[in-house]
Amino acid sequence: MILVSACLAGLQVRYDGLHCLHNQLRRLVEENQAITICPELLGGFSTQREPAEIIGGTGEDVLVGKAKVVDKSGKDVTQMYIKGAYATLKKAKEVNASIVVLKENSPSCGSSNIYNGEFNGQKIEGMGVTAALLKRNEIKVISEQQFAESHL
Ligand code: SF4
Repeated sequence: MILVSACLAGLQVRYDGLHCLHNQLRRLVEENQAITICPELLGGFSTQREPAEIIGGTGEDVLVGKAKVVDKSGKDVTQMYIKGAYATLKKAKEVNASIVVLKENSPSCGSSNIYNGEFNGQKIEGMGVTAALLKRNEIKVISEQQFAESHL
């Protein structure tokens, strides 16, 4: 089974109430080869919500308490991001996911890049909180770009 970021399957779960539809991934979900998850909704957020970024590091740093996730108003939302990451890990284990395809650049789902924590649109190398937790548990995580290139 494949787990897929819900926004990539066309569900309107992003912070701004929109989606990031990726047709190939939506088809996998329609064919019951993939299941959608949204770590931020699992963490207790609703749509719409404030955008948030990781301040002071990456998702790995958040998991070890060296960085935090803060929304645009300055509220510390780290615990909700961690909660969503663990709920996603639980789901990945339950369905014995062979691969998890996560939306690049998100503070939860980014697997190669995330925003730099200054809300200025600039990105840095690094993983979001959920991607970092999954990788730490040896679950294969790729981005939608890597999925498209892999011809899975
Ligand atoms: S947390 Fe992940 S699945 Fe949910 S909206 Fe953000 S990028 Fe998409």
